[in-house]
Amino acid sequence: MRLLVIEDDQYLRKRLTQELGQAGYAVDSADNGPEGELLGDQFPYDLIVLDLGLPGKNGIDVLTAWRARGNHTPVIILTARDQWREKVDGFSAGADDYLAKPFHMAELIARLGALVRRSQGQTQGPLTAGDIVLDEATQQVTVAGESHRLTGVEFRLLRYFMLNPGRLLSKAQIDEHVYDLDATKESNVIEVYIRRLRQKVGKERIQTRRGQGYMFQAPTP
Ligand code: CA
Repeated sequence: MRLLVIEDDQYLRKRLTQELGQAGYAVDSADNGPEGELLGDQFPYDLIVLDLGLPGKNGIDVLTAWRARGNHTPVIILTARDQWREKVDGFSAGADDYLAKPFHMAELIARLGALVRRSQGQTQGPLTAGDIVLDEATQQVTVAGESHRLTGVEFRLLRYFMLNPGRLLSKAQIDEHVYDLDATKESNVIEVYIRRLRQKVGKERIQTRRGQGYMFQAPTP
């Protein structure tokens, strides 16, 4: 899952980038409205964390512009404490959720997880596909009752597959959702990760479509 953080407070932006990275997201960030808006238009983010008070262009205007252009990426806005007006404006502009500052990082991570699942039509509990259960808190996968630890990239990759069962995903799409802007991309690296992931979840679950990409098959219960 790839996530965009738009926050001008340098300390908070760094903390968000670091902690959301540890929570298994590939994170890009911007410290002002116009740059954040551009990134949101350019890359297929799965989630956006948007501060409202931003230099250059405020968060409400950025969000309004995205929605007007048909960008429906789930957005959680960060509002000032006790500013009920900001929440109302945020929801009218198309926000999916909000969090008032100061907030606990664990709450943000939980809300982001819920937003991802809601946007993919899965409403509660850990992410599951047949007998595969992905625990987002511990980044472990359980396959037919047997647990495996996942590296950061393996976790992001498997979550992306599990949220898109039966869908043909090109290597470019996978790259975009698994890596952030700073990551060094090597064209054959995804194949290496897929090979390792297959060893953990079962070879038949991730099919190669030659020249086209990969498809995750949810096992039938
Ligand atoms: Ca701010």
